[in-house]
Amino acid sequence: MYTCGPTVYDFAHIGNFRAFVFEDLLKRWLLHRGFKVKHVMNLTDIDDKTIMGSQKQGIPLKQFTDFYVKAFFEDIKALNIENADVYPKATDHISEMVTLIKTLMAKGFAYKGEDNSIYFSVCKFPDYGKLSHIKVDELKVGSRVSQDEYAKEEAQDFALWKAWTPDDGDVFWETELGKGRPGWHIECSAMSMKYLSQTFDIHCGGVDNMFPHHENEIAQSENATGKRFVNYWMHNEHLQVEGKKMAKRFGNFYTLRDLLTKGYDPISIRYLLMSTHYRQQFNFTFEGLESAKSAIERLRNFVRRLYEAEGKESEGKVTTLIEKLEACFEGSMDDDLNIGVALSSLFDFVREINSLLDVNDVSKEESAKIIKVIMEIDDVLGVIGKVEVEEALPKEIDLLVQKREGARKTKNWKEADSIRAQLKTMGIVLEDTAQGVRWHKEKT
Ligand SMILES: [Zn+2]
Repeated sequence: MYTCGPTVYDFAHIGNFRAFVFEDLLKRWLLHRGFKVKHVMNLTDIDDKTIMGSQKQGIPLKQFTDFYVKAFFEDIKALNIENADVYPKATDHISEMVTLIKTLMAKGFAYKGEDNSIYFSVCKFPDYGKLSHIKVDELKVGSRVSQDEYAKEEAQDFALWKAWTPDDGDVFWETELGKGRPGWHIECSAMSMKYLSQTFDIHCGGVDNMFPHHENEIAQSENATGKRFVNYWMHNEHLQVEGKKMAKRFGNFYTLRDLLTKGYDPISIRYLLMSTHYRQQFNFTFEGLESAKSAIERLRNFVRRLYEAEGKESEGKVTTLIEKLEACFEGSMDDDLNIGVALSSLFDFVREINSLLDVNDVSKEESAKIIKVIMEIDDVLGVIGKVEVEEALPKEIDLLVQKREGARKTKNWKEADSIRAQLKTMGIVLEDTAQGVRWHKEKT
């Protein structure tokens, strides 16, 4: 699978990460289902935006993009996104792009404009528009666009190779195509076909990349090879923030770093980004982020509880519940990654097993089985992680817990509550269960 990676001219924002988290979930699901996955994600380190950014800062392009590449890898690690097998950089693949463009020229699908740039001739690809359903008869025949990004209404011949202009400064390559640099779209065609093959299975990206980027990738690649380029396109929908389009001018624009600086937990952000079906518009809210945090806590507490379970056998109830969970979780994920239904089947399971735990109806062997299933599911979700089982309480805290137990026994709820609050300020969370009080350290 090929997933369009970041353009490394700025820190990635949560809309970008919606795509990357969705792609991670897809990949993890395919692996869970036993598929072999080779995942390629490119790094766009040369395009209009990176050149402009480096010039603004007055530093060389490479120094500028290296900084954001490093930041990108830190961000995906924080979000527990698994690494791709290859992260090709565009600047390392100029010769592959030149070869591809030469092929297109030799076949008569590309031509040199009077500005010395090389353009793809859209009218030479009869299927142009099949992905984004753009109306091809509205194309302006013979007119050209040299920018990397443009709207459907502006569809026309697009630049494969951009001849050097003074605006590019010291960013250029001397090639058989002349002095210049590649257009953005040819980068992904060249790198995906190099590391996968001329035809590959899955290509993902945000829906905003469908036109012109992916439409152009198809046209270039299929005209060059004469083969189908991609078997399945998967696009995630837009993200909104608090019900509005995310934009700096609305004051609701967030990079991952903005949220981490505000103290939000990256795994809660991961959970939230993944919990809406990828083909649905997603509304990111801070309330949603809080619920994501409690959902993860619920799962972690569940696992902690299971580690302690030593009750009697449930007489097959646990096995039945596990089978039900597996069937429902797998069935819904197989249904175009229906994560909403998959997650609710997981929380139904947690609730039902918790009821059995309440009456001491889960044996040690059964709980081990449950933990195994939960951890397999977490290989896909990537939100529970390693759950620490509590170590011995520090003495001072232990005394407070005992004191509170005493207060509870004498029904002195006021004091019990005040001790609970005191423990909370020390980062200790209490939970009253049928087996007595349990505690864990609060995740920050
Ligand atoms: Zn791309």
